[in-house]
Amino acid sequence: MTKIVNHWIGGKPVESAAGASGTYGPVTDPATGAVTTKVAFASVEEVDAAVAAAKDAYASWGTSSLAKRSAILFKFRALLDAHRDEIAALITAEHGKVHSDALGEVARGLEIVDLACGITVQLKGELSTEVASRVDVASIRQPLGVVAGITPFNFPAMVPMWMFPLAVACGNTFVLKPSEKDPSAAVRLAELFAEAGLPDGVLNVVHGDKVAVDRLLEHPDVKAVSFVGSTPIARYIHTTASANGKRVQALGGAKNHMLVLPDADLDAAADAAVSAAYGSAGERCMAISAVVAVGAIGDELVAKIRERAEKIKIGPGNDPASEMGPLITAAHRDKVASYVTGAAAQGSEVVLDGTGYTVPGHEDGHWIGLSLLDRVPTDSDAYRDEIFGPVLCVLRVDTYDEGVALINSSPFGNGTAIFTRDGGAARRFQLEIEAGMVGVNVPIPVPVGYHSFGGWKDSLFGDHHIYGNDGTHFYTRGKVVTTRWPDPSEGPAGVDLGFPR
Ligand code: NAD
Repeated sequence: MTKIVNHWIGGKPVESAAGASGTYGPVTDPATGAVTTKVAFASVEEVDAAVAAAKDAYASWGTSSLAKRSAILFKFRALLDAHRDEIAALITAEHGKVHSDALGEVARGLEIVDLACGITVQLKGELSTEVASRVDVASIRQPLGVVAGITPFNFPAMVPMWMFPLAVACGNTFVLKPSEKDPSAAVRLAELFAEAGLPDGVLNVVHGDKVAVDRLLEHPDVKAVSFVGSTPIARYIHTTASANGKRVQALGGAKNHMLVLPDADLDAAADAAVSAAYGSAGERCMAISAVVAVGAIGDELVAKIRERAEKIKIGPGNDPASEMGPLITAAHRDKVASYVTGAAAQGSEVVLDGTGYTVPGHEDGHWIGLSLLDRVPTDSDAYRDEIFGPVLCVLRVDTYDEGVALINSSPFGNGTAIFTRDGGAARRFQLEIEAGMVGVNVPIPVPVGYHSFGGWKDSLFGDHHIYGNDGTHFYTRGKVVTTRWPDPSEGPAGVDLGFPR
């Protein structure tokens, strides 16, 4: 029997309404190609019901004590910890990534719950006493109200957890619209949060597509929108929600470069390139998709990457022997394959061609093997586009300066890494490179929970990065209170029309 994933509104599952607005979409197991689940697609009225539930809940949650909020978050953390395996299995069944990788995703999401558990410290304001005679000034931060989150398919548990734990800890109530391709993990997180004691309506989940998203972007009771997904949609979300007067952070796509200097440990660089390019089948916004080899190391580095890539075992994510799973949909697999089949005609040398790969017994899965393209021209599609699959491009330059100029000419600026033994070069790179997250001998420099995550240029629209201190700032607004309590022995100050000097 097909599983059904319903909305989660006001602390309980809500079926999609019958009639014209009551539609469902299919969810596929990428390893078999079989439709396993039906997910409700929200109508405008259903989104409105979720926002109304969140607005009702805000009336008391927004003024609830920090002690109460942090106690619930600690319980949620314990439940998450106890259900890591179950959530990872849900991710694997709908996304396809291997179980160990899914467990890593849950762990990185849990890090943000850890951060949210410490909200008592983060929301401490600032106080200056005696700024003038008997005058004190306090800066405080208050929640916004109802906020919305719209998330991508590639991290169905972690990216929602980049948003709602901190938003809710700050006193907001939340409406999440997860990816319709793998919606189950988000609902399970909402159930666990409810089990931890979260009052009804504080966290709501509505599923669907553009209809649901557009309603959230225009709803007058939604005060802020966090988005993570592809660049064209991030740009659209930022423009539309801003035009509707909302605070917006919209994180987009990427093309992450790894600059390898001639003095680097080439074995370590090759290990890192293979792990970062092909992990999660390249469906990570921080995946390394372009290696830039400096000087004469190109041939040796490509040989080392090839040797390692050829050994990666591809198979279903729930098979412990698999190191890389399938892609999310057959259509996406075909699109990824088209970059490889078109690469030679556009000037690349195809070192490994992963197209046409299949896993015996799972022929209908969305499989593709690992591809490696060398001497990739910068004007080719494989270099210019975010492929979001297991395709690694190698480019060659003569000098460090040429490498930095190449990376800085990319419209994306999410993550980047340098591999070198030269501390001076690494230090220059940190300062000169135009990207939001930089790794030095670290291929995927995803910040830990207490530092914020975000890219530059077309990888982020808005001025707040996500989680960390930026997250707390995004989900609160500042207020400054200036107070004078005259000493009882003093008389009235008297009228003075002058500006305080
Ligand atoms: P996507 O942009 O297609 O979808 C993201 C969300 O937007 C989904 O919830 C989807 O339902 C919704 N959406 C899609 N089309 C829409 C439209 N026309 N109008 C309104 N809403 C729409 O992204 P995806 O394919 O799910 O995820 C992969 C992308 O996300 C990649 O580009 C990847 O780099 C990016 N990503 C970025 C980060 C980051 O931190 N910068 C993290 C993860 C993923």
